[in-house]
Amino acid sequence: MPVDRPEGVPLPVDVRDLLSDTEVSLVEEFAARHVSARRRRQHEYAFAAFQRWCALRPVEALPASPRDILRYLHLHRDRWGWGQMWGVVAAISFMHLEAGLLDATREGRIREYLSAVRRSKGRYVEKKQMDAIRTEDVAAMARTLGAASPDVARVRFVIAILYATGTDRLADVLDSGRLRIQLHDDAARVSIGTRRGILDDLTPGALAAVCEFTSSGEHLTKTDQTGLESQIGDAWARAGLPGSWSKNLSRLAPADLQWLLANAEPGYHETARAVAYLLVGHALGRRHAEMANLLLCHLTERPGGWQVLIAQSKTDPHGRGETLPLDHDDDNGLDCDTICGACALEALLEVHLRCHGRSLADSARIFPADLASGARWSTAQAARFLRTWWAETGLDPEARIGTRGIRAGTATSLSEREVPLIDISQITLHRNLTVLLRYIRRYDPVRWHYHLPV
Ligand SMILES: [Zn+2]
Ligand SMILES: [Zn+2]
Repeated sequence: MPVDRPEGVPLPVDVRDLLSDTEVSLVEEFAARHVSARRRRQHEYAFAAFQRWCALRPVEALPASPRDILRYLHLHRDRWGWGQMWGVVAAISFMHLEAGLLDATREGRIREYLSAVRRSKGRYVEKKQMDAIRTEDVAAMARTLGAASPDVARVRFVIAILYATGTDRLADVLDSGRLRIQLHDDAARVSIGTRRGILDDLTPGALAAVCEFTSSGEHLTKTDQTGLESQIGDAWARAGLPGSWSKNLSRLAPADLQWLLANAEPGYHETARAVAYLLVGHALGRRHAEMANLLLCHLTERPGGWQVLIAQSKTDPHGRGETLPLDHDDDNGLDCDTICGACALEALLEVHLRCHGRSLADSARIFPADLASGARWSTAQAARFLRTWWAETGLDPEARIGTRGIRAGTATSLSEREVPLIDISQITLHRNLTVLLRYIRRYDPVRWHYHLPV
């Protein structure tokens, strides 16, 4: 009796021609029996899940009715890729044959269902349907990545005070009896004894550091002075500023102060790339490949933000490219939110400039795999980062996160804001609206995810 299994490999035609029908049947039967131990364990594992599902109904798992198999498959259709669903069918088939039962998965309705699923989930369709990474998700991730730890906030605060008062004695700053801070709407007055200074919008980073530290109610008593000293020294070294910090910080140029404050966070360069990748990618709705291929010469500053040239894309492989606007979320860029794409891009450009200075070439990648080598950033690497940021932000652990989710998130969020499809296509650069529709994910009220409509 020939045993037909989903994973059975047919005999090559030239071999088959040499054999009689009986011999062919025998060969096929032996081949079907020869299931590797690993394969068997996979089948048993997949079947055990099906059995548990059946036990809860309760319905018979062995033999299973085609109707229950169909229900089981359809219930999980949204969660499983094509390969996984096929593995489940193979497992149910295998266990039935092992038990000497008829293979229930051969039933016509199941075959029809599988071929319908294959049309929507098979190899030529999106391999896995990624969840959309929407505006809210991008903002939450950018805020988490950009948030300073209490330790970093303290170092920034001390740097700001040293700058404002011009003292070079750390002990003065830590003397809570002498340090006085008055916060106003857009400035902070700082004094230690007779030394006074003001922090305002010329030094926004220092002002923010003082406001944040003061409002969090943190105090400096019992702070370890030596530890603090070496932390500021480390920030100075990471910032690559000449000399050593022990001199008077008030002599720093505002731009250098800003840069030193940023580098109080040990992983600042990495953070700047991460935040810009999320915010620029979301604002422009780009694919990872287009982000990875973005070069310094593709960026042009203009009033209110930037002009970004997408030199080449999947929909425009040989074209002259398309330019997309990347605007500050505040008209003049002075009062932007922390989740402004143009500001994030500028912060990343500052990192590039500071790291490479005059050697920064026009052909430098904006989003390289690492900032030192400038090598191309692969989709797989970026996806791993994306999943880490997603998890660190505490977003839905069940969501399927990949780089494609960024572009899908742009389209989905715009559509949720009721932006007309034709206007969305101006951003995503889709010529074909049917293709664009595939990027617009619908909210799934059962799983609380954003998926393609099923
Ligand atoms: Zn901005
Ligand atoms: Zn989901």
